[in-house]
Amino acid sequence: MGNLQKRIQEIKENISVACTKVGRDQSEVTIVAVTKSVSEQRAAEVVNEGIVDLGENRAEGLVQKQQNMQDADVSWHYIGNIQSRKVRDIVGNISYLHSLSRINIAKEIQKRAAEPINCFVQVNVSGEESKSGVTPQDLERFINDLAEYDKIRVVGLMTMAPNTEDEALIRSVFSQMRVLRDQLMEKNMQHAPCTELSMGMSNDYSIAIEEGATFVRIGTALVGAESEGVR
Ligand SMILES: *Cc1c(COP(=O)(O)O)cnc(C)c1O
Repeated sequence: MGNLQKRIQEIKENISVACTKVGRDQSEVTIVAVTKSVSEQRAAEVVNEGIVDLGENRAEGLVQKQQNMQDADVSWHYIGNIQSRKVRDIVGNISYLHSLSRINIAKEIQKRAAEPINCFVQVNVSGEESKSGVTPQDLERFINDLAEYDKIRVVGLMTMAPNTEDEALIRSVFSQMRVLRDQLMEKNMQHAPCTELSMGMSNDYSIAIEEGATFVRIGTALVGAESEGVR
């Protein structure tokens, strides 16, 4: 078995363990392979292994991979900060945008999109200044404001945990996200079903799943770093 296959098998085992721990079904969790730092060859190998959700964080990287992987049946996820002038480059090409946190981006999507775009609203739970995202206090108002843009469909919330070894802190961030998601979901807003939670990366996806993640965004643990020459 190749290195990539081993990595994927290990991740799936960890996901299964985390789901079992909290009584969830593994089918509730979608693995998004973050291919932002690897080549389209590596990305194509990932797709060959049956992982068809790929995440990119730059418009150029997304477009380049798409052009070189036209035969592959991929769901593309845009996971990074997006500048409004780049919205037009990605809007027709993605299944999910994970990083909506500014109204001017919503306006640009409204202007450019032919079909509604599945969006996660990015939340900055930990309050770190370096992180983008809407604060928990502003979240409800932000989502209410999105109602007037019919090209935006708020499928859920996304966050990045603080970069720390403190597992309890990470868990508390994810658990707060779940509470926020549940509160929004209960409102039954037509433009914001808000059923999903995009959280968990290479170092913390097991915790995220225990706390309710439905999309995990896994880069290095899955695809490796190109410089390692992993195959
Ligand atoms: C790079 C990135 C990831 C993946 O990070 P890894 O630690 O390599 O798993 C996930 N989400 C976002 C928003 C990223 O930018």
